[in-house]
Amino acid sequence: MPLYIVATPIGNLEDISLRALRILKEADLILSEDTRVAGKILQHYEIRVPLLSYHHHSGITKINHIIELLKEDKKIALVSDAGTPGISDPGGELVHQVLEAIPDIQLEAIPGPSALIAALSISGMPTDKFLFLGFPPHKKGRQTFLTKIKASEYPVVVYESKHRIIKFLEELKAVINPQAEIMVGRELTKMHETAYRGDVNKILTEIKSDLNAQKGEFVVIIKNNK
Ligand code: SAM
Repeated sequence: MPLYIVATPIGNLEDISLRALRILKEADLILSEDTRVAGKILQHYEIRVPLLSYHHHSGITKINHIIELLKEDKKIALVSDAGTPGISDPGGELVHQVLEAIPDIQLEAIPGPSALIAALSISGMPTDKFLFLGFPPHKKGRQTFLTKIKASEYPVVVYESKHRIIKFLEELKAVINPQAEIMVGRELTKMHETAYRGDVNKILTEIKSDLNAQKGEFVVIIKNNK
């Protein structure tokens, strides 16, 4: 009844480990956030294993079904849309529920890409300690979120989508020291990969002035200069 938590690419299909490919090939079932996204990787690597969706809206009935399959000794692999399952995606809840139901489960991490680590690795900022805050809350809690960024003595890593990147940077600008060092990693490992570096004013000007810069997926890293 093993459950494998398998990291998959954050863009570039070559970023997948040999072990991840073997585990996916050997699985009885692959759980994926979006079966079309996982389907692309599986097709690319000629892996023919049944897919079952597991996403934010999967309720307890789906989780119980997965638990039953694990109890029946099925080898199950979990992948997310990008990167490491459980990092700012629904994988964490599944792992929690499975551990509650089957405390002695064979649970194995198959490590690999994660957008936050990729961004940190090219940030040029001190990365021996950092604070990862995930996505800013959409409504309630936004000010507290920004206050946490401003107060951090370590670089802070935030995920953001194309719909809200300008809004987030504008709100950041309103609270942050204008000298704070920022990197925005956009479309990492993909064709239009870009890293914007500088203070918040410079980065906002660059992203606002280019419609293409407002497309894709973003990681923002903020280092307060106190
Ligand atoms: N589990 C994933 C991981 O390990 O990175 C993160 C999942 S979270 C739902 C998706 C967010 O990760 C995106 O909105 C974006 O902020 C970030 N992200 C994912 N892929 C990215 C990429 N190629 N470039 C920049 N950011 C990316």
